[in-house]
Amino acid sequence: MTTKVVIMGAGPAGLLLAHCLLSRSNDYEICIYDKRSDPRLLNNNKRAFVIGISHRGQTILKEINGLWKAIKNKGIPVRNSGFYSPKKETWQTFSRYQHPEDCNLLINRNDLCTTLLEELEKRINNNLKIVFNTRCIENNFRKKTITLQSKDNSLIEESYDLLVGADGANSAVRNSLMSQPGFHFEQSYFNTSWKVLHLPRPGFMEPETSYGFREIENSTYIVGAALPEVNNQICLLIFWDTTVSELNQNPPGMTNANELKRKIKDVLLPGLELSNEQAEKFIQKRHSSVIQTKCNRYHDIEGKVVLVGDAAHAMSSRLGQGCQAAFNDVWVLNQLLQEENNNLDIVLPKYSEKQVKEGHAITDLNACLSPRSNWLMILFNSVMLLRSKLNEKFPNLIQPTPLNAVSRTLIPYSEIANRFQHWMTIIKWSNQRQLEAKK
Ligand SMILES: Cc1cc2nc3c(=O)[nH]c(=O)nc-3n(C[C@H](O)[C@H](O)[C@H](O)COP(=O)(O)OP(=O)(O)OC[C@H]3O[C@@H](n4cnc5c(N)ncnc54)[C@H](O)[C@@H]3O)c2cc1C
Repeated sequence: MTTKVVIMGAGPAGLLLAHCLLSRSNDYEICIYDKRSDPRLLNNNKRAFVIGISHRGQTILKEINGLWKAIKNKGIPVRNSGFYSPKKETWQTFSRYQHPEDCNLLINRNDLCTTLLEELEKRINNNLKIVFNTRCIENNFRKKTITLQSKDNSLIEESYDLLVGADGANSAVRNSLMSQPGFHFEQSYFNTSWKVLHLPRPGFMEPETSYGFREIENSTYIVGAALPEVNNQICLLIFWDTTVSELNQNPPGMTNANELKRKIKDVLLPGLELSNEQAEKFIQKRHSSVIQTKCNRYHDIEGKVVLVGDAAHAMSSRLGQGCQAAFNDVWVLNQLLQEENNNLDIVLPKYSEKQVKEGHAITDLNACLSPRSNWLMILFNSVMLLRSKLNEKFPNLIQPTPLNAVSRTLIPYSEIANRFQHWMTIIKWSNQRQLEAKK
């Protein structure tokens, strides 16, 4: 019997789910809808940013024949990190991985979605419909139908057996669940804004290396990175504190093109010169904010609805795990559907039971492993450096650091959060105090 799956959102999670289901069985009819345009028609990036696909994500992508190879071809494998030594007045790099095959694959989000789409259409012709420029506006749980609105405002009604909310941090599918009894959802905004700029790679930056920076300007944090992209480009990401409301639009000390150029060249990424046009483009861009969401369950039995990826658990990009967690949801859902022969009454509660604790754990790890105060940051970094060295030497005795555990192992997030609960509690307390002191 065919199961009709409507996937809302053609982002990494929605597209990977289509791959998983259709590569496993002919018994699914899949319709994917996305409110945005087909990423294959966008000429280069605009607001898109680079995503790092680490060990967890890679392991899942390798399960689908040929998919990892196709994605790898569109990204840059990064093994080194670069930092500026003010003492030596020069850039230095170090290798982040012991084994030559290990890497973090950096890929533009648009390129990731484009590749997932191209590979879907290459492999599968039947049973798949992908519609862009069409948004979900309403959900009838009793009838199991969804109302969609296309760009010309016409309305479409689509029936489904399973509705998957893969529609990101501001999920319309999740919003429709708010009316269901017992469904709880909370969201909070971090006091952080970010902007992205794509530039040609300057000569002093090595090709497969990411360069990070961190600065404090009038007790306000600025952090970011220059990440390598294909075609000899870099993706410059800047995040900054917005506890002072007028700092929403641009980072402190960088409120016009000249200030931005000077700060980048002299302080954040010494040697990187922005043209007037690039600097102006950054200043004029709309900033984005960072949202964190938590739900008490990721499904609804009556409506046969399930949430995956950012729709279930949006988080900051601090640990670079949003996409890995999204892929993990998809993989677990796919396995449960297979094991339980698509019996949704069994699959959906089991999925929530497995994934809600993982979603909460990685959201908490993200939020609580970044000390703001200098003394705690130095202490935390020193302890973690020591732990990392000891773990390299005695892997059976000393556990990896939380950053290595999330990005280089498959240890469940919930277990990592348990192991580092003491650090999370101290950092959360200290950060809270800092924020209160600033107010
Ligand atoms: C600056 C930055 C850096 C990041 N770096 C990393 C990283 O290094 N590693 C990592 O793992 N993660 C990273 N992330 C997180 C990662 O981008 C997300 O976790 C990931 O994209 C989630 O995928 P998704 O498919 O669940 O949601 P999304 O990527 O948000 O896709 C959702 C899709 O749904 C569509 N949609 C939304 N609403 C509707 C609607 N009403 N109807 C129809 N369609 C709709 C959207 O158009 C979109 O295409 C980063 C995020 C940011 C912002």
